[in-house]
Amino acid sequence: MSRVVGIDLGTTNSLVAYVKDGVPVVIRDQDGDALVPSIVSTAADGAVYTGREAQRRLLTDANRTVYSVKRFMGKDVDDLRGDLRLLPFQVSGESGGVVRIGLGDRELTPPEVSAFILRDLKHRAEQFFAEQGEVDNEVDRAVITVPAYFNDAQRTATRDAGRIAGLEVLRIINEPTAASLAYGLDQRHTGVIAVFDLGGGTFDISILRVEGGVFQVLSTNGDTHLGGDDIDLLILEHVLADLASPRPTFEAPGFTRTSEQIQALRQAIIQAKRDLSDREETLLLGVPVTRAQLEQWIAPIVERTLEPCRLALADANLRASDIDEVVLVGGSTRIPLVRQRVGELFGRTPHSELNPDEVVALGAAVQADILVTGNRDLLLLDVTPLSLGIETIGGIVSKIILRNSTIPATGSEMFTTAVDNQTAVDIHVLQGERELVTDNRSLARFKLRGIPPMPAGMPRVQVQFQIDANGILSVTASELRTEVEQTIEVKPSYGLTDDEVERMLIESFEHAEADVAARLLIEARNEAASVITATEKSLRSPEFPAIAQSDLAPGEQKRIEQALAGLKHVMSSPNRDAILQWTKALNDATQHLAEVMMNRSVRAALTGKNVDGL
Ligand code: ADP
Ligand code: MG
Repeated sequence: MSRVVGIDLGTTNSLVAYVKDGVPVVIRDQDGDALVPSIVSTAADGAVYTGREAQRRLLTDANRTVYSVKRFMGKDVDDLRGDLRLLPFQVSGESGGVVRIGLGDRELTPPEVSAFILRDLKHRAEQFFAEQGEVDNEVDRAVITVPAYFNDAQRTATRDAGRIAGLEVLRIINEPTAASLAYGLDQRHTGVIAVFDLGGGTFDISILRVEGGVFQVLSTNGDTHLGGDDIDLLILEHVLADLASPRPTFEAPGFTRTSEQIQALRQAIIQAKRDLSDREETLLLGVPVTRAQLEQWIAPIVERTLEPCRLALADANLRASDIDEVVLVGGSTRIPLVRQRVGELFGRTPHSELNPDEVVALGAAVQADILVTGNRDLLLLDVTPLSLGIETIGGIVSKIILRNSTIPATGSEMFTTAVDNQTAVDIHVLQGERELVTDNRSLARFKLRGIPPMPAGMPRVQVQFQIDANGILSVTASELRTEVEQTIEVKPSYGLTDDEVERMLIESFEHAEADVAARLLIEARNEAASVITATEKSLRSPEFPAIAQSDLAPGEQKRIEQALAGLKHVMSSPNRDAILQWTKALNDATQHLAEVMMNRSVRAALTGKNVDGL
């Protein structure tokens, strides 16, 4: 039987693992190296290099060498402005269209570039299995991991990369979830785990609950533009600034730094950074640098990881002291300052028994094994990053699935019509945290038609949301009396950038108060409108003149008409209190009339029965 593997397709490094006799192991090359640098390079004759070889070519052929391609997955050019600084390769594409990356004379999409790395891993694994003496060493199925913040477009791009490389992608799973699987935390105890993943290009914090062998992601947060790359750039900036004046030979007039020089500098910096994770002092370009100096430079970056941790805790309704275990993932968590600050935040020493570079691939292998063998009935639950709902009358959003709900998720609400004889309802599907439709993201619109004419409020329209394990949302609207039904499939985060997700969350916090006020006003107006409609209907009904004569007190009709006029007058003002007062006034004024009308219809019904019974 062909083999399945787990793949960590990282921004900086990628690796592949498999499960041997129930234990996940990373597949290494002849030198014992597990990490394949996520770098692709091409020579003038068209030959393509990946991994370490491509990394070496960063020094000689920087312009024909591509790294950090994961940053471009599922993105369009407009999303990328900030990323292009100091990148030696060409990134192009039409506004709103797919990014193209210049690789030598070719222009490739990010999944095509990633596919070179995946092919390298596939090949590495096949070679390994062949050396183990296996008859069928083909590797054609894989579980691939992505950062928790990856949206649907980015996940789809990752899946595409797998397909281009000749791999059936069994599942895309979140890196922090994979890491906790690698630690076997599902089998250890009941509790809450914080997974802190600081790699080369992304930062993720996930709060997971383990109970009865089941993982549940309570919340996720992070920053897709925070990691070791940023630390390198920061050191680079400090070093360039330092070098500028005392080293005239390096920055002589008319001298321009080439990409190769920048890359050589970059690699020297990475080496020095790594040294300082184990030692107090090292040399960078012959200049002594201390760990204390480095810590001073990078402290702002380390601090930037802490706020997402606090937000994730808040989303999970937990305090730092509620966390039972902290797991470190990603090469940058080897930095002592990172460990120290994370330890301080959560009030406990983080786990780091497993190699932080490898845990994600190990977990992916475990997941792949579970999917294929069905051993270990383990459920992995993910969460949806933004709330989903539909537009209701007055332009407000009725949320149906709340943000951070575990997926697969379902939710449903009952709605009805606002006017008589309405035969179709508009379903407008929205994503976001704000109260008003205009401040949220429109995902889809469709009409539920074929509702038979009925008085307002009679139809029972059920709107059902369902998000499947891959994050795809389907919305079904049905009228329950007649069983008319309409379904639509939407991709909740298609084309939505991580920055947009973040912006939407931040705005919802900033505007929370104003939003609530706007919502309350709209609700008051809706309530007023329905009381007005009901009153006008009664006043116009054929029985009203008779009722007014025999049942209403002198002046009662006049009081109703005054309250009606008063409410209509304040209805469109922004004064919610006045609307509420006049609504109450009209309700009070019509209470007796409503009772009379109700009694009449009840009496009519009973009389009818009696007649029938005789
Ligand atoms: P990714 O998941 O983004 O591919 P990794 O988990 O492989 O990233 O981490 C890569 C990052 O970790 C790089 O920025 C690398 O420089 C950094 N790194 C690796 N080892 C160390 C170390 N000993 N000290 C500090 N940073 C390290
Ligand atoms: Mg990683």
